[in-house]
Amino acid sequence: MNWRLRSLALPVLLAVFGLGMAQAQPAIQPTADITQPPAAAQPSPHFNADAATEAYLALIPPAANARSDAYFEGGYWLILWGFLYSSVVSLLLLHFQWSARMRDLATRLTRFKGLQTFFYWVQYVVLTTLLTFPLEFYENFVREHKYGLATQTFGPWMGDEMKSLMVGLILGGIAMVGLFAIVRRLPKTWWIWGAIASMAFMTVTIAIGPVYLQPIFNKVTRLNDPKITVPILRMAHANGIPTNDVYQIDASKQTTRMSANVSGFANTMRITLNDNLLRRGSPEEIQAVMGHEMGHYVMNHIPKMLMFLLIVIVVFFSYLFWGLQWALKRWGARWQIQGVSDPAVLPLVMLLAGVFFFVMTPVMNTSTRTQEKEADMFGLNAARQPDGFAQAAIHLAEYRKMRPGRMEEFIFFDHPSGYDRIHSSMVWKGENLELFEKSPAQPPLPAQSAQPATH
Ligand SMILES: [Zn+2]
Repeated sequence: MNWRLRSLALPVLLAVFGLGMAQAQPAIQPTADITQPPAAAQPSPHFNADAATEAYLALIPPAANARSDAYFEGGYWLILWGFLYSSVVSLLLLHFQWSARMRDLATRLTRFKGLQTFFYWVQYVVLTTLLTFPLEFYENFVREHKYGLATQTFGPWMGDEMKSLMVGLILGGIAMVGLFAIVRRLPKTWWIWGAIASMAFMTVTIAIGPVYLQPIFNKVTRLNDPKITVPILRMAHANGIPTNDVYQIDASKQTTRMSANVSGFANTMRITLNDNLLRRGSPEEIQAVMGHEMGHYVMNHIPKMLMFLLIVIVVFFSYLFWGLQWALKRWGARWQIQGVSDPAVLPLVMLLAGVFFFVMTPVMNTSTRTQEKEADMFGLNAARQPDGFAQAAIHLAEYRKMRPGRMEEFIFFDHPSGYDRIHSSMVWKGENLELFEKSPAQPPLPAQSAQPATH
């Protein structure tokens, strides 16, 4: 099987690779200094949040907006193409009975059911990785380079892809062996136990992520620049986060995107900021972003997201229970699948999962976006850096559309839009003008000037 796949993959790879290298353009930077609040955003008796928002938005050159709109809207289509492409791959595996043949090979290699599942999984992952490689390469290499967001040449990028493949083989392998064991033993109730097991597995993966998975791809270190850590740790302690460490990740190895995140679960939960943010963000901007991340932490967004996912997964598994029965009754014999506990059923599972999560796109995005909005509001209150947060929104506009329509935001956005973020910041600023009146150019640090708003 292997040599045939390799001979198929190579020409495809070279063809797409040749296309990709031609046009890399750097991001378009704002011409004005975004760390200076524009005139309409300066504190004054007639401060108006809408006018201040428009003034901030006007700092972004139209060409930069056009470009990030094109990038972001392309992402909408990629959701559709990704869904169709992977559906076709699943149908190929079923229709030509490749899946059944991989199962037969796994059965010949060992008589242990668990190992058969694992051997099937290895073949499945390798085959589908090769078949979906053209889209993967376009989406995550060619397109990222085209928009000036990628920093890796082909070799290191491919290295990361191979690492992901290995992680997927091992972690996915463990999950598959476990899930198929449940299906074999509990033919009537597997959907509920499968959902619970998937949940437990996901929680463990999130917990080990920052400590064992992230370092496979990037270097994570403790940040020890007091100029940056002191205000962040003060903000953390003031908001009940008992940490003395802030982490830094060398994301510039892969991307020019600025970002930060909260990751982990229970003991491994931590806040990490990436080196692009450290290098390009002003101190006010870094504090604003950290305030947002602390919001995720303090409001327990990861555990809450897991509770939400538990509901989604239970619904998904019950849909799977009925969907598999329905499809296998009609086409099971033709596809040579012996039942739900036969590993050869996997492409059908992936096909049904693809349909489910494609339809669920707005629900999943809205659930994430709601948390992000909460974190935005928490961050404004904690960091008191509305101008810093507006700067962050402008930086993020390098890869996100600033001003989507209402429905567009509802369906596709997993974060509030840039417009929404600057507007919230300016409304917050308008209601707290006394914090900024003494030295408009330099907003004060949190502790000294914390007077309650008058409205
Ligand atoms: Zn967030």
